[in-house]
Amino acid sequence: MRIKELLAQSSEQLRDVTDVPQKEAMILLGEVSGREMSWLLTHSDDEISSDERFEQLLKRRANHEPLEYILERASFYDREFYVDSRVLIPRPETEILVDKAVELAKTLPEQAHIVEIGSGSGIISVMLSLLLPKARFTAVDISVDALMVSQENAQKHGVNDRITFIESSYLDGVQGEIDMIVSNPPYIANKEPLGIGLSYEPSLALYGGNRGDEMLCHIIDLFLARNVKVLACEMGYDQRQPMNLYAQSKGLAIEFYKDLAGLDRGFWIKEKE
Ligand code: GLN
Repeated sequence: MRIKELLAQSSEQLRDVTDVPQKEAMILLGEVSGREMSWLLTHSDDEISSDERFEQLLKRRANHEPLEYILERASFYDREFYVDSRVLIPRPETEILVDKAVELAKTLPEQAHIVEIGSGSGIISVMLSLLLPKARFTAVDISVDALMVSQENAQKHGVNDRITFIESSYLDGVQGEIDMIVSNPPYIANKEPLGIGLSYEPSLALYGGNRGDEMLCHIIDLFLARNVKVLACEMGYDQRQPMNLYAQSKGLAIEFYKDLAGLDRGFWIKEKE
């Protein structure tokens, strides 16, 4: 069979799964053949024999498994990270949280201690440690599985000696003064049905409680209890009002940022003057 015929046939299997079936079929074929997409395109008349691994990967994608889990990589902030089903797949909107945290860090000493609650794949702590080379980081997660992935990513990007990884709930086990907390915690309401794509991702990383914002509220409590200077969190598009009310009830000034789609996506709070 010729490459173009194989691609046409396989993209047919992905039609209901993605808007770009041809592209994804090509990515998967590129993965198993070790060829660049440009090579496949310019050699589309070459003969190719059927490949069992390609068929397996195609089948996984046809069952709606996210491409990132199949390829075991995802890009975030122009860098490549290792991912598998033990962690949430990085979302582009989380890059805005990283930018926000960098901006807020400018108001802190260079050697600030920054703690990430629920570090998952580690993308936030790894990116922040690259962008803030003098800061010290503690990455906390309740999932040992996730911590293994985040440590792998810290190693991959050469910052494993800059981040202390702790298996813990919230700030339990985090010693000393904290200058900033950054978090993209689970914030989806428990009753919310997950779409077919999300069903492959760890529900521990997605569900935040009956309302969804319980963990966000608890993080605000900890920000106060531990006298932290700055807090930056990602949140759901419909959580601006409840977070605003909660922060106000604690006498805190909260500010919000939007994602690229123009939806409310996060907030930051600074210590009271
Ligand atoms: N942004 C993710 C989603 O909607 C949720 C991430 C989270 O709960 N922290 O798929």
